[in-house]
Amino acid sequence: MNLLDIVFPKSCVICKRKGEYLCRRCHKLFKRELPECYVCRRLSNGYRTHEECRDRYSMDSVFVAWEYNSLTSDLLKKYKYGYAYDMSEVLCKFFTESIRSSSYWKMLKDTLVINMPISSSRLKERGFNQTYDLAKRISIEFNLDFSDSLVGKSGGSEHQALKDKEERREISTNSFYIRKEIDISKYRSITIVDDVITTGSTLNAIAKKIRLHYGDSISINAMCMFRGKPVYYSSDSEVSSC
Ligand SMILES: [Zn+2]
Ligand SMILES: [Zn+2]
Repeated sequence: MNLLDIVFPKSCVICKRKGEYLCRRCHKLFKRELPECYVCRRLSNGYRTHEECRDRYSMDSVFVAWEYNSLTSDLLKKYKYGYAYDMSEVLCKFFTESIRSSSYWKMLKDTLVINMPISSSRLKERGFNQTYDLAKRISIEFNLDFSDSLVGKSGGSEHQALKDKEERREISTNSFYIRKEIDISKYRSITIVDDVITTGSTLNAIAKKIRLHYGDSISINAMCMFRGKPVYYSSDSEVSSC
């Protein structure tokens, strides 16, 4: 325990119990996502994208740990706006546990882990990129290579939620670029780490950029902490991933 923990003791952002930013009791209330295809959201072995759901640039698989619901939405608001740095350690611990307890960890062999890029103006506004920390910790936990410079994001800091659907699609396809030439020949796949996935269009835009640059043969996957229930199961509104 360091001095800061004594002066400002940590407490669970959900139940306020002293100890950690997220206690194990509240974490037990998280609902695990079943392995599904990220495109059609029906069950799929190993979180793989169904053949019939793929197009040329689709992700090969997307692992999602927990369902996004009212409990986790409250937690994520705190995580994204203020506590990201503090909470990253405990969230990463639970995220790692959920990856280990599924068979998905086997897919991580010889993968290059990357984080979700954010634009420099957004970085300035927020102070840091929360998925950078998450991706880096995951790479350390599973002993994998990590890069934060494969893909970059240009553009302003406007919130995606303010744009209409068509505009958003346009922005996400055009705003990613290959930041640095990396020798990816030694990797079997690239794994993008993100906190929340909604439609998957941002992940698709990144996968497309990588494939257009490095060729179609590289396998591209993603690991995300949360995703809302499919719209045909529930009317819960989805959050905009930013
Ligand atoms: Zn708690
Ligand atoms: Zn499918």
